[in-house]
Amino acid sequence: MKSRGEDLAIFGGPPAFSEALHVGRPNVFDRARFLDRVNKMLDRRWLTNDGPLVQEFEQRLADICAIDHCIAVCNATLGLELLIRACGLTGEVIVPSFTFVATVHALQTQSIVPHFCDIGRDTHSIDPRRIERSLTSRTSAILAVHLWGRIHDVEILADLAARHGLTLLFDAAHAFGCSYQGVSAGGFGRAEVFSFHATKFLNTFEGGAIATNDGDLAGRLRLMRNFGFRDFDSVVSLGTNAKMSEVSAAMGLTALESLDRVVACNRANHEQYAELLNNLPGVKLLAYDETESCNYQYVVVEIDERGVGLNRDELMRILWAENVLARRYFFPGCHRMEPYRALYPEAPDRLPVTEQVCSRVLQLPTGTAVGPDEVAVIGSILRLVVDEAPKVKRLLEKESRDSEVTSVP
Ligand SMILES: *Cc1c(COP(=O)(O)O)cnc(C)c1O
Repeated sequence: MKSRGEDLAIFGGPPAFSEALHVGRPNVFDRARFLDRVNKMLDRRWLTNDGPLVQEFEQRLADICAIDHCIAVCNATLGLELLIRACGLTGEVIVPSFTFVATVHALQTQSIVPHFCDIGRDTHSIDPRRIERSLTSRTSAILAVHLWGRIHDVEILADLAARHGLTLLFDAAHAFGCSYQGVSAGGFGRAEVFSFHATKFLNTFEGGAIATNDGDLAGRLRLMRNFGFRDFDSVVSLGTNAKMSEVSAAMGLTALESLDRVVACNRANHEQYAELLNNLPGVKLLAYDETESCNYQYVVVEIDERGVGLNRDELMRILWAENVLARRYFFPGCHRMEPYRALYPEAPDRLPVTEQVCSRVLQLPTGTAVGPDEVAVIGSILRLVVDEAPKVKRLLEKESRDSEVTSVP
């Protein structure tokens, strides 16, 4: 382990890791079980179109979430689009800017105006106290996000939605396996959408599911997922192709069998980070509510430059040089991405908390590809950088001056 600031890889020392450590490296389990399912699928020659693996996967999801209906889809983005259409949303929808851009694109592609609402300082999720002032006569819904799998303020949101006659939907892309007061994600609002993208906690290569207790809505979603076909020749509604394939369901069913191990690994990593970063000035690790089920999928730290002596981006550069590929989701915020930046140039003034959080958060590597040895080294690098921040800052400034000089032709 490194003991001096000048040993950091960014200043020419050897990187702490020879291979890159990622946030969200796919969890891969029991290859034999997966291949067995795939072989049987090939024997059946039923590869997609609501096959037996998709049906079994949907049933398992519904059981785990204690929800009436789970509709598997090819990805969460299309799941959100279908849900928005099936609920008949129009006009404007209240949505956080601090989310993956797909949440907002799913509205915009259907000509619905995303009305960005600021987030809570500690929750990182939509701040219910700010919703009412964002409502207009055209508002039809609230689309909230269980960010980092932490579920907040669901009763207040439900109450607000009911009082104003709004539909309440959740982007639950991060929240599979998480609960709030014992109720599993999937059970809140009118419906919720999970993502099973390769980088997510539960992975089906690409995939997602819409969870709802509303049978009529579920029926409409099933039709819309398959072009509106009710049976062989009968198309009864507008639809698209959002089906999950059998091979994805095979992956999902296999992953579900090992999910406890993934949680245990994520949780151990999170606990170790918490210990190592405890009392480190300016570095705050986001906690999970231990009394609930959590998937511990993300290790999120907030970097306060005044405490650390370096800003988040400087810290990130240092980590990248060590082959620790920390990320800054969801920088710079959807309101600063196109087309929203051009459409809503005034949005940064309305979103002070989003702006601040976007400049501070960093996600550290975790998942089953990361273990105690790696976490220990990452923790030691962070501690070294904070301990020697003034010197590191001077070296960083010198390094960027030097690289400017060398880049002049
Ligand atoms: C990953 C993600 C999505 C998109 O999921 P896909 O399955 O990749 O389409 C949507 N919202 C959030 C918050 C996400 O993190």
